[in-house]
Amino acid sequence: MVAVTTRTPLIAGNWKMNLDHLQAVAFVQKLHWALKDAKHEFDAVDVSVFPPFTDIRSVQTLIDADKIPFGLGAQDLSAHDSGAYTGEISGAFLKRLDVAQVIIGHSERREYHSESDELVAAKVKAALKHGLVPVVCVGETAEDLEKHGASAVPVGQLEVALDGVASTAEIVVAYEPVWAIGSGQAATPDQAQEVCATLRDVVRAKLGDDAAARTRILYGGSVKAANIASFMRQPDVDGALVGGASLLVDEFAAIIRFQKHVGV
Ligand code: PEP
Repeated sequence: MVAVTTRTPLIAGNWKMNLDHLQAVAFVQKLHWALKDAKHEFDAVDVSVFPPFTDIRSVQTLIDADKIPFGLGAQDLSAHDSGAYTGEISGAFLKRLDVAQVIIGHSERREYHSESDELVAAKVKAALKHGLVPVVCVGETAEDLEKHGASAVPVGQLEVALDGVASTAEIVVAYEPVWAIGSGQAATPDQAQEVCATLRDVVRAKLGDDAAARTRILYGGSVKAANIASFMRQPDVDGALVGGASLLVDEFAAIIRFQKHVGV
């Protein structure tokens, strides 16, 4: 029997290489105030921000001191624990800074840093080893879409990423069609639902029914306040990984408050 679980929506802001530590602190304060002013129910939607590494300590200090109910994330981690890996950041270091989640396998890392499916899988294991929740990004390019349809590439990427992962592990999956990232051309809600449902089947096949029922699967790619509601109406879309729009306080606050315009 398939377990029934209510999945708390997750809205995650990937800032990429934007906002220095001073700008990041100001942004988090403004976002928190905007949500408080709007009387946002913080328990209803999980919010995470993924600043650049150099901002993490400052953002951690702020959210800790002001009890801001945002999750803190990192945009990448090393597959290694420590050692002679110049420029790399260990999951152990992130954990010491109260980082809770880490993006792994973003298409920009796959493309500009040649990250393979195997490296992504090693990073997923490193994150779990250090008590971090991996946000595993998968998605097809426009060429993949043309040649193989929408699901084949993300399914293959997720299958490798979940190899050897325990069925009890907490993971988040982000379906991000590469052609939709930063292009202003989001997938349709139906396309997102279809692929997210297929990815949930992968989680089921690899980790079992309970994991499939509780794992949050996000859509990412040109999400904005105007389209978030249509994605959140889909049964297998549990939230969004937001790039550009997560850098605009009012826009990101409106995305987080999708329940006010989703009709639930
Ligand atoms: C991303 O890069 O993860 C992303 C979804 O970007 P954007 O929202 O800008 O398309």
